[in-house]
Amino acid sequence: MEKTRDRIGEDTGRRDSSKTSGPEGRIKIQPKQAKTRFVVHEHHARHLHWDLRLEIEGVLKSWAVPKGPPTEPGVRRLAVQTEDHPLDYIDFEGVIPERQYGAGTVKVWDTGPFELLGQDGRELKFHLQGRRLRGTYYLLHFKEKNWLFFKGKKLEGER
Ligand code: MN
Repeated sequence: MEKTRDRIGEDTGRRDSSKTSGPEGRIKIQPKQAKTRFVVHEHHARHLHWDLRLEIEGVLKSWAVPKGPPTEPGVRRLAVQTEDHPLDYIDFEGVIPERQYGAGTVKVWDTGPFELLGQDGRELKFHLQGRRLRGTYYLLHFKEKNWLFFKGKKLEGER
C-alpha cells in the first residue's frame, strides 16, 4: 500500500511540474480580423452596367460588368477591370454630375462580406456573402483588362 501511494505521489508531482509549460502556456490569442467587404454598384451611366468592387489590400479593386453579375453557376460574364477606388466609396449611392467621369445614377445592388480564398496571377477565387451574390466566385484574367466573372459549382463537401 505504501509503495502504491508513493508512486501516485510521484506521478502527480510530475504532472504538476509540467503544467507551467503545458497547453495553457501555448494558447495564442488571435486578434479578430476586420471583415473585408464587397459591393456591386448598379450604374446608370450612358450604358447601364454593374461595378463589382472587392476590398483588397486597402482599396476597392473594380470591374465593370456590362451584363450584370452571375447569380448561378454556369454563367460567365465579361468583367472589365477599371481603376481602383478608395475604400469609403463602398457605401456610395447618388448622382455623378454630367460631364464628370461615370456621369449618372449609382445604387448599391448588393454588398456584404468578401473573403479572398486564393490568388495567383491569372485567377482570383473568393467568397461573397451578399443578398444576391452568395457563394464561391472566380475572376479569371484572359486579355488586357478583360476578365471572366463566374460562380463556382458547389461540390459535395464544400461549404
Ligand atoms: Mn461604373
